[in-house]
Amino acid sequence: MLSPESALAEVLRVAQPLAPRRVPLREAAGLVLAEAVRADRDYPPFPRAMMDGYAVRLADRGRRVPVCGEVAAGQPWQQPVADGECLEIMTGACCPPGTEAVVQKEHVRREGDEVRLPEETAPGEHIAPPGSECRAGDEILPAGSVLSPLGVAAIASIGLDEVRAIPRPWLAIIVTGSELTPPGIVPGAVEIRDSNGPMLVAMAAELGLPTPRHVTVGDRVETILDALRAAASFDLVCLTGGVSVGTYDLVPEALRQYGAETLFHKVAQKPGKPLLLARNGSQILFGLSGNPLGCHWCFHRYVSAAIARMEGKPVTAAVLSGRITQPLHGKPGRARFVPGLARWQPDGWQLQPQPGVTSADIFRTAKANCYLHIPGNRPVVEAGETVEFSLFTAPCWGGSCTAAPAERE
Ligand code: AMP
Ligand code: MG
Repeated sequence: MLSPESALAEVLRVAQPLAPRRVPLREAAGLVLAEAVRADRDYPPFPRAMMDGYAVRLADRGRRVPVCGEVAAGQPWQQPVADGECLEIMTGACCPPGTEAVVQKEHVRREGDEVRLPEETAPGEHIAPPGSECRAGDEILPAGSVLSPLGVAAIASIGLDEVRAIPRPWLAIIVTGSELTPPGIVPGAVEIRDSNGPMLVAMAAELGLPTPRHVTVGDRVETILDALRAAASFDLVCLTGGVSVGTYDLVPEALRQYGAETLFHKVAQKPGKPLLLARNGSQILFGLSGNPLGCHWCFHRYVSAAIARMEGKPVTAAVLSGRITQPLHGKPGRARFVPGLARWQPDGWQLQPQPGVTSADIFRTAKANCYLHIPGNRPVVEAGETVEFSLFTAPCWGGSCTAAPAERE
């Protein structure tokens, strides 16, 4: 059986960055830029006052001078600053010719129409000269950078309302299981409600994906196949349930009839052993365990990695380490990923395992915020020992990316 590391490597091999397209700036935060962004003019374009105060001549330091007018932000200056006088000026206004410094309002004493200027004022104080932030044509963000809200601000400043970027993938979720009742209907005695669908929608939202298409189908090859065909235009498909070895686990057969190539099926891990990866052209498909925890782990670890890759983001696992508070006893063999509660303490991360009674148990595990990574060759971990873990919410992958999309492979 494939190891978790090999399964992840295969996911990263198969998933490829999506084709860049033009994206409205308001939707572009978190995306990878496909081309460099350059300044359209010098910034600031004029000598900008950086404080509310007075535009002054240095010769008048320590003197009382009349206030001969004012300049507000966005307002053209009416008169230059001459020796023996000053102008009131607001933050963001253009300093008129002759301004040698801006004195902060709090540092002068106003006496009627005059102000007493302080002695200690440096040349150019509180003035940002034209072009001091960037020059026309300067690269302000390189291709390959992940656009942050500050980056959005920089792009808005240069007047662009769209950028060329790698889009987020469109995700379709196909929940399978004849035992699942639709929302709003009281389940029969041996039926259950779907929890995987809402969970995957929430996990997709955490990663900033557009709202996924989400359908629930029974355990019949034809209905699963219909759902697959209806999702043919989606970049990424997550099926849950029906991927194991039971008589009614029909996802592998539906994928075969759909024309998808199965790349692996089953990974030596607990939970999430039945994980399946397939592709159909450029579409990536995951068969996730029906067991809620297996489904959660596999999205956390593998699907999120595929998404990061499709978005052109760097994919270095952010695995931390911490001390476990109580022993974990298991059997050698499969790697285990145990839900836990990580708490930051003055001496490092403290990890309290929150194992479920079974890998279907989302009630005991709903308080967890991380997975403890227990290798298959380390069945027993004693209290106080160090183990690796990954936080649910801090993305497994990501960070800022410096390589241009074309160079990233
Ligand atoms: P399966 O992988 O289809 O054999 O399902 C494994 C277990 O997970 C069974 O107990 C299912 O009833 C349960 N299960 C499957 N799908 C879901 C779902 N969408 N929500 C909650 N439990 C599910
Ligand atoms: Mg099932």
